[in-house]
Amino acid sequence: MFDVIIVGGSYAGLAAALQLGRARRSVLVVDAGLRRNRFAASSHGFLGQDGQAPQAISAKGRAEVSAYPSVRWLEATAGQVRAVGDGFALRAGGEEHASRRLILATGVVDELPAVEGLTERWGKTVFHCPYCHGYELGEGRRLAVLATGPHAFHQAVLISDWTAPGLTTLLLHDAYEPDDAELRTFAARGIRIERARVARVGGEAPQLDVRFSDGRELTFDGLFISSRTHVPGSFAEQLGCELAQSPVGAFYQTDETKETTVPGVFACGDAALPFGSVTFAVADGARAGFGAHRSLLFPRAEH
Ligand code: FAD
Ligand code: MG
Repeated sequence: MFDVIIVGGSYAGLAAALQLGRARRSVLVVDAGLRRNRFAASSHGFLGQDGQAPQAISAKGRAEVSAYPSVRWLEATAGQVRAVGDGFALRAGGEEHASRRLILATGVVDELPAVEGLTERWGKTVFHCPYCHGYELGEGRRLAVLATGPHAFHQAVLISDWTAPGLTTLLLHDAYEPDDAELRTFAARGIRIERARVARVGGEAPQLDVRFSDGRELTFDGLFISSRTHVPGSFAEQLGCELAQSPVGAFYQTDETKETTVPGVFACGDAALPFGSVTFAVADGARAGFGAHRSLLFPRAEH
């Protein structure tokens, strides 16, 4: 019987495990190793690790966490979970593991629009976050935003701040229609609009060619997509955790201690935030570690 099982051993799960290992609590981390940013060569904006390879940051974290003797690691995909008495039983690696608390740090999975050529360029010339990759594209670059819904308005305005007026193009792709006020904002910020559907993207980094359904082609230095996301697995359904909705997808609803709507089940990182980054995931994971630990000592209302 572990004190805590953590599903997901990336930034959020590692940060939770670190707090619990330091409290000498027994922890099992179950991790399938599919970090969301595994497609990118470098990670930006995380203080002290700016520009490091995503894999290097998580490997260092794993080494730190594994140095605590009460932390065990299992490379596996967790599937079935059920409540047993005051705790939980989780199937992973062909065995059932029991714990008093559960932390879901599974991250989210990106769903890219079905446009040929996007997947291969994800994390290279196609990105989701300007704070992560905008600076590296350089000044005065030609940036495009592929709309996936009405939130493309905010994304286009945001992205345009990383380049000069006239160099941001919003590709509507039938995903949304700006209203008059939005069109005035676009005009004021020098954001161009393309109404033709995108047929495919091509070209080799550092350039990206966008081919439209009417046969025209435009070349950009970077394309941003606010991808739709989902939380992987069916833990919410199996346990009864309520989900909250962001403009791009669902995430676990949690309180300030990172406990979900099911007592004893905590969630953190991208899986429990409306918007993710490595920094947010680490901070959120630390909160979940504190929260799960304190819940072992204090009644629900006090931890
Ligand atoms: P993740 O890092 O996604 O990790 C979740 C872990 O849980 C994975 O190892 C996964 O395999 C595991 N898991 C899931 N389900 C199970 C299961 N059932 N059983 C076992 N294990 C499971 N952010 C930045 O701050 N800077 C950047 O430069 C940056 N670049 C990015 C580039 C790209 C292309 C993308 C897509 C994202 C980028 N991000 C960046 C965002 C960043 O990747 C996420 O915010 C961060 O990875 C979230 O950490 P996490 O621990 O919550 O989830
Ligand atoms: Mg994690």
